[in-house]
Amino acid sequence: MTRAFFPSSLEIARLRRKLTSAELSKRSGVSTRELRRIFAGEVEPSPESVEAIARALDYPVGFFYSGDLAMPAAATFRALGSMTKMEAGAGKASAALGARLSDWLEREFDVPEPSVPDLTGTEPEQAAQMLREMWGLGERPIGNLVRLLEAKGVRVFSLSEETLRLDAFATWLGARPFVFLNGVKSAERSRFDAAHELGHLCLHRDDQQGKQVEDEANRFAAAFLLPQGDVIARRVFPTLPNLIASKSRWGVALSALVHRYQDLGLLNADRAKWLYIEMSRKGYLKNEPRPMARETSAIWTQVLQSLWTERRNVRALSDSLALPADEVESLIFVSWDARQSETSIQRISGRANLKVIGE
Ligand SMILES: [Zn+2]
Repeated sequence: MTRAFFPSSLEIARLRRKLTSAELSKRSGVSTRELRRIFAGEVEPSPESVEAIARALDYPVGFFYSGDLAMPAAATFRALGSMTKMEAGAGKASAALGARLSDWLEREFDVPEPSVPDLTGTEPEQAAQMLREMWGLGERPIGNLVRLLEAKGVRVFSLSEETLRLDAFATWLGARPFVFLNGVKSAERSRFDAAHELGHLCLHRDDQQGKQVEDEANRFAAAFLLPQGDVIARRVFPTLPNLIASKSRWGVALSALVHRYQDLGLLNADRAKWLYIEMSRKGYLKNEPRPMARETSAIWTQVLQSLWTERRNVRALSDSLALPADEVESLIFVSWDARQSETSIQRISGRANLKVIGE
């Protein structure tokens, strides 16, 4: 029986490794003409060609035979202007890999069904309040947003692109919502990004793009993380030391709290401007004062623990899914934790129960 080669896999791997077709040809020794025909699905590449391509891309040969991979039709990126086309392509392609991990997760574990409502057309402040009500959060601060999203059926992955130009993005693959977060940014900014992307998932299902859409997602994020009633009830006299002491309650950046104070009329424009100047002068806009710990995934932490008890590790998981270990590691936040040493591969037997702790 011959195995079928999937051109879509080749395109995903090429995008992930940020190579042009010409660069791939040069690295692999496969002619541009042959590559073009392979990409177009006109020829079944020879095993030698596939091996050369796999080596050039540092992807396992099995990846190209392991099924069709779909790129998200659209992904809402922020800061698209300054982002290179190559970075955007690599970011979008990571969603295809995330989808494969997600499918595996659903086969092996009991994970929550998605419960992200469609709030298209709702004013962002109101949408944030509605979502808080639906999710039973009231006006309480949100402890760990990544874990809350996971409990609501959103797959949260980390963007492996080590760039500040690609903020974060959200997309739907079928009925499953995905959020990809940038691990290079501060924990507070990454958390705000997560709330911003949640805003897109609720408000912008029709893949709109542009400044208005971004403003709406930002307003949603501020209202979701900094609920009006709680912020007003806990307001402090707006000096930097007071605000720094107070911001940890909501897990936001100092600048986000100042912005929210201004939006809620707790600060006038002059005072806000002065605070921004002071923040800039003290370097607080670049280095967050009193930083919070980075949020990590509940799901993947438990998955890894479950793998370890079976004497498997990320490499074993990657191998079984025909994905490169470096890609899997960066997608599931594991690179922030201890990397596990090589252990033997064992088959997973049965489905395990996965507890997802919500808020
Ligand atoms: Zn956005």
